[in-house]
Amino acid sequence: MMPDIKANIDAVHHEISRMCKHVDTEVNQPKLIAVSKVQPLERVRAALEAGHRVFGENRVQEASERWGALKPEYRDVELHLIGGLQTNKAADAVTLFDVIQSVDRIKLAKALAREMEKQGKQLPVFLQVNTGREEQKGGCMVEDLPALLDECQNLGLEVAGLMCIPPAGEDPTMHFALLKKLQKRHGLERLSMGMSGDYTLAAAMGATDIRVGTAIFGARDYR
Ligand SMILES: *Cc1c(COP(=O)(O)O)cnc(C)c1O
Repeated sequence: MMPDIKANIDAVHHEISRMCKHVDTEVNQPKLIAVSKVQPLERVRAALEAGHRVFGENRVQEASERWGALKPEYRDVELHLIGGLQTNKAADAVTLFDVIQSVDRIKLAKALAREMEKQGKQLPVFLQVNTGREEQKGGCMVEDLPALLDECQNLGLEVAGLMCIPPAGEDPTMHFALLKKLQKRHGLERLSMGMSGDYTLAAAMGATDIRVGTAIFGARDYR
């Protein structure tokens, strides 16, 4: 059954603003990134028709197939790449996306900088931090962050902030706190954290970019 996408988006917005009021009334509303990976096109269209414009995808190939057609139709869509990026897909990623949230190594930063220069674009990027030190997960280790940040700045990349994906099944509090600490230490503006299961906590802890899929679109069907 088709979920009520508009009602879900409104509910998530409502929860986010409720949590932010708790913390600091001066704080800007975080940006809600609707994570549309794997979701049927009709659900994505429902979100667009409800007026939502900020979306996240985790694979360049899948995103190109879908958004290559949708973006010309909805020109004000802002598309975030939130999944791991291979260096050889940097060109396609720069062509399609508006924000790259998964920069986690110098080689990738160099490839992106080269492509942006080539395509005459300057996309904001986030540096992804592997706060849980999980081997299978993307993101740089905390101790490698200063060198990565330095390199990005030398390359002329616009580093907007930091992103993390806490280990599944773990209390995310410490991971969000660590990311926040790193953001402050490096004087960065944005903080991308929080998914369907923990976005209210993330909002309360200072997230500026919140990536929600399931709570908006329903469960993903991988079959
Ligand atoms: C899939 C995904 C999300 C959204 O997850 P939900 O639990 O469905 O909200 C957020 N961030 C990243 C990096 C993802 O890959």
